[in-house]
Amino acid sequence: MNKPAVLYMVVPCYNEEAVLETTASVLEKKYAQLIEKELISEKSRVVFVNDGSSDNTWRIISRLHSQKPLLFSGINLAHNRGHQNAVLAGLMTVKELCDAVITMDADLQDDVEAVDEMLEKFYEGNHVVYGVRSNRKTDTVFKRFTAQSFYKFMKVMGADVVYNHADFRLMSARVLSELENFKEVNLFLRGMIPLIGFQSANVYYERKERVAGESKYPLKKMISFAMNGITSFSVRPLKIITSFGFFMVLVSIIAFIWAFVSKLAGNTELGWSSTLCSIWLIGGIQILCLGIIGEYIGKIYEEVKARPRYIVAEFLNNETQEEE
Ligand code: UDP
Ligand code: MG
Repeated sequence: MNKPAVLYMVVPCYNEEAVLETTASVLEKKYAQLIEKELISEKSRVVFVNDGSSDNTWRIISRLHSQKPLLFSGINLAHNRGHQNAVLAGLMTVKELCDAVITMDADLQDDVEAVDEMLEKFYEGNHVVYGVRSNRKTDTVFKRFTAQSFYKFMKVMGADVVYNHADFRLMSARVLSELENFKEVNLFLRGMIPLIGFQSANVYYERKERVAGESKYPLKKMISFAMNGITSFSVRPLKIITSFGFFMVLVSIIAFIWAFVSKLAGNTELGWSSTLCSIWLIGGIQILCLGIIGEYIGKIYEEVKARPRYIVAEFLNNETQEEE
């Protein structure tokens, strides 16, 4: 890999006016250091992707770009499409302009200091470098518990993801050009990138607390994200339902034999409540299973429509090294 590489950092932003300036100044310092150390070329940029924010986020991004066109770029999406789509929009927009991309959250929870090591691993020949959290000390007990259950559940359900890795990662231009061929509408990048293959490495970092503003991932969004991860990457739930169906049939055969035998033995039991209970139980299980199958059908519906995953309204970028 030619050194120093052109590094584009893609930062998705949704209503981040509270942290954006701080993030920009932290990244500015980092970039100056990296250029100094000849780890990245001067053509490197920080690309803020505005994911249809309703606050001043885009105004701040445009201002940053006009103040420092050789450092800050901006992508304005036509509307809010969620974190994963915003990241993808950034990646696909810059893929031909750079040698490597790092994706990072706008709230500085990911450690900028890990970038040096990511670049070193990149120069060692890794096409993907995953930022992996070494601990979760700063998380609330609740967030830690839900996040860890999420990784374990994902694994049980057959979707292989890198443990404790979110979306802080470096990818080479080669990986981006392969990622372009993944046309799915339901995005789950941390499941997709390992599928691409290529040599990869991990870099460990401590995840910090959000610098300002609040999380855009409340519990409801987190659950739907986890559900999406599973149903986009695995059909194991459907297989579990099938095995469960077989099991239920087996149980009912046994119950039938038992009822028949006890009738022959002359025990006409009242059995009203137990019958009622089992009807409810089985009814509930059937509806649940239908629901899971429905989730997949819903997904097929979205995928066959193949609507665009994001729409770029504007791309502010200065590719040359001259000021405008
Ligand atoms: N984000 C986004 N679109 C959304 C929600 C979030 O681009 O619809 C961005 C957000 O600005 C941040 C990143 O995704 O840069 C992660 O979000 P957040 O920090 O709120 O999630 P958490 O770290 O609490 O899981
Ligand atoms: Mg965050």
